[in-house]
Amino acid sequence: MNSPSAVPKHSYIGRFAPSPSGPLHFGSLMAAVASYLDAKANKGQWLVRIEDLDPPREPKGASEQILEQLNALKLEWDGEVLYQSSRLENYMQALNDLSERNLCFQCNCSRKRIKSIGSIYDGYCRNRMNLDTKGCAIRVIADEIDLEFKDLVHGNYKKNIGTEIGDFIIVRRDKLFAYQLAVVVDDAFQKVTHIIRGYDLIHSTPRQIYLQQLLNFPTPLYGHIPIVVNDQGQKLSKQHFATPIDAKEGPELIHRAFVLLGLSPPKGNKSAPVQEQLHWGIKKWDMQTVPKLANIPEDKPAKE
Ligand SMILES: [Zn+2]
Repeated sequence: MNSPSAVPKHSYIGRFAPSPSGPLHFGSLMAAVASYLDAKANKGQWLVRIEDLDPPREPKGASEQILEQLNALKLEWDGEVLYQSSRLENYMQALNDLSERNLCFQCNCSRKRIKSIGSIYDGYCRNRMNLDTKGCAIRVIADEIDLEFKDLVHGNYKKNIGTEIGDFIIVRRDKLFAYQLAVVVDDAFQKVTHIIRGYDLIHSTPRQIYLQQLLNFPTPLYGHIPIVVNDQGQKLSKQHFATPIDAKEGPELIHRAFVLLGLSPPKGNKSAPVQEQLHWGIKKWDMQTVPKLANIPEDKPAKE
């Protein structure tokens, strides 16, 4: 099978891209572990990108803290960490590209107006000319096309960009580049081939694929893992006071993440060093056994 003349195996590049709104909690650790195992099981690279585009929401030192936590858990990344705050020129370039082709427009609709029209923007500012750019957001024109992708966990997922999503924001009213634009530019720049992340982002995926198509970027494969919720059904997040993970509890945390990701680690593994557990996880990783769920409770009893 593995003749030396065989076509080089396609190279896998995965990534974990936290925003430094605080230290890692168990929910973000799940995405780190899943993307790491999938990359390493495919003999790929695993990159870390810090999505620090929203300074008011980033406590000082949070990025360093996240990297320390990953280090302590032996989730070792390949290459240099990429910081989105260093990439503004590249986002500007993509924006200019869209703008020169009249694929986006300034929007100064008030919050009140946006609220009154519901969740899908009605195109109101598309043809308004010469708006004072102060206080304007920039939206991309959403054509009425169906975008479908095959999620590695959930299978086919389809949205009509025009009728189900609408013109969406790529530069915010406060002039910060929106997540959707930055992430697409960086995934292309880093040649990411596989994106494994939480289910809460599946709604963003059609937007990102749409931008990739407009910008002539390749589309990676996507897999969305269940997001961890607390006993009130809320996503573990800083807003809901999720506790930061303590690297001293590493072995137990990794064990718990494995169970929630559909792996069946032997009971004795619970106290094994994280490195040993990760080696086991890489060998056993199977995307097919990841629960096809949007949410999973954090206190799901371990199947042992
Ligand atoms: Zn508008």
